Amino acid sequence: METYKLYINGEWVNSSTGKLLDVKNPSTDEVIAKVQSASEADVEMAVDAARDSFDSGVWSRLPPGDRSNILLKIADLLEKNQKEFIKLETENSGKSVKQVSGYDIPYTIDNIRFIAGACRTLEGKAMAEYVADGTSAIRREPIGAVGVITPWNYPLMMVIWRAFPAIATGNSVVVKPASYTPLTTLKLAELVENAGVPAGVFNVITGPGSSVGEQMARSNKLDMIAFTGSTEVGKRLSDLGSSTLKKVSLELGGKAPFIVFEDANIDAAVESAIVGGMVNNGQDCANSTRYYIQEKVFDRFVQRLKERIRQIKIGDPENPDTDMGPLISEAQRTRVEGYIKKGIEEGGRLISGGDRPKINGHEHGYYIDPALIYTENESSAIVKEEIFGPVFTILKFRDYDDVIRRSNDVTYGLGSSVWTSDITTAMRATRDLRFGTVWVNEHVVVPSEMPWAGYKQSGHGASLSPYSLEEFTYIKHVYFDITGKVRKDWYDQIFKG
Ligand code: NAD
Repeated sequence: METYKLYINGEWVNSSTGKLLDVKNPSTDEVIAKVQSASEADVEMAVDAARDSFDSGVWSRLPPGDRSNILLKIADLLEKNQKEFIKLETENSGKSVKQVSGYDIPYTIDNIRFIAGACRTLEGKAMAEYVADGTSAIRREPIGAVGVITPWNYPLMMVIWRAFPAIATGNSVVVKPASYTPLTTLKLAELVENAGVPAGVFNVITGPGSSVGEQMARSNKLDMIAFTGSTEVGKRLSDLGSSTLKKVSLELGGKAPFIVFEDANIDAAVESAIVGGMVNNGQDCANSTRYYIQEKVFDRFVQRLKERIRQIKIGDPENPDTDMGPLISEAQRTRVEGYIKKGIEEGGRLISGGDRPKINGHEHGYYIDPALIYTENESSAIVKEEIFGPVFTILKFRDYDDVIRRSNDVTYGLGSSVWTSDITTAMRATRDLRFGTVWVNEHVVVPSEMPWAGYKQSGHGASLSPYSLEEFTYIKHVYFDITGKVRKDWYDQIFKG
């Protein structure tokens, strides 16, 4: 069994205390690796490495094209080594190998290539004489040393989404992956090193969020925290970051509505409903979780959805036929089961699922059957809160105004979708839904070129797209006097002497 080290200042080191953490395979509950539990001194060392490398200018002052070439090299290395990454990610996260090999890793490679290209095209206002006496220009500059804290649901992808726009724009980073799934992030550090990123620019430390993550948020040597994870922890990081007023960029939870009007293509909607609800084993911030179905097509939609859910193949993530693997942990399964129970107690009717399936050879895995629940209780926890598991909550709606109001009536605002064949309904809904993404007749698709961003308590800032690079830069106004005069006309307004 491999024991991974911390990657600090270009060196692979043990934690100063020697304390290790187990990393498990969620489909078997077996320990598959050990990682270091970073101590306070280790965190300090990693923060210093990022700080010093940034202040030295060794990376931040490289022309964007040079940084871009190194990032492209990392993408090439990831592509070359993708088999190893696919195996590790599947084993550690419990997602189906079909999803990891067909989507997660190739998409992540595309994300890196996009970011590498985009860092050469940062924009600002045109240099010009906005007042007659001088020329103004915009410089875009990196923010500095950035702490990056990532979740377990897309372990490798989320590091790329947050740490790569940061380094592409010249920042240095300390990355702390989730303790459940740190392995591909540590492997990525090997590629970063081999591609020629200077020591100290990209550091990886592992350990509990409550100690390592909080120390990063409090540190006065980090200029920014980029966090992807739950809304609850996002709020905590905002509080901690406020002591130094560091920038805190937050990509948080979601509670996506999936709205089906009676004129929609119902078969297409059901296929997407399944994919949207169960992608990533139901642990995706964009998961369709609230299915609002118009009265007239309700029975047809639910009947078809029930039939198709039954056909989801739950099993060994490493089997290429498996559609859905286990949840990430026993705690997560207990949480999801708690929501199903609560949904029923609050008036919901369990239509199917919600049990623990028996998977041969994986009896200790954290499996759960996708649950289909119908409810008329709009204020039930299963309608309002992020469950983060395969729970399909079905609701009925009357008309446009009714469904838009209810869809918007949550604290989250990340993904949403609307299903209709009427262009006017579609256009109105894209305006009226208060979410960072509105899909029309689709759910979950996010090209590298487009932003993934939250409204309301789903956070702020953006991943992917050129906006994600802007997130990691300051805009500096530079002004040049072009008159050479000792006194400008406007000085009299302040001081005539
Ligand atoms: P989480 O908030 O529990 O943990 C995320 C990270 O924060 C982990 O690395 C964890 O160790 C760390 N952490 C935990 N407590 C901390 C603390 N007190 N201080 C500092 N760091 C701390 O989230 P999770 O369970 O890993 O991931 C699931 C959540 O992530 C869901 O809410 C999901 O919607 C969200 N998510 C959002 C996006 C997005 O793009 N908006 C993408 C993926 C996941």
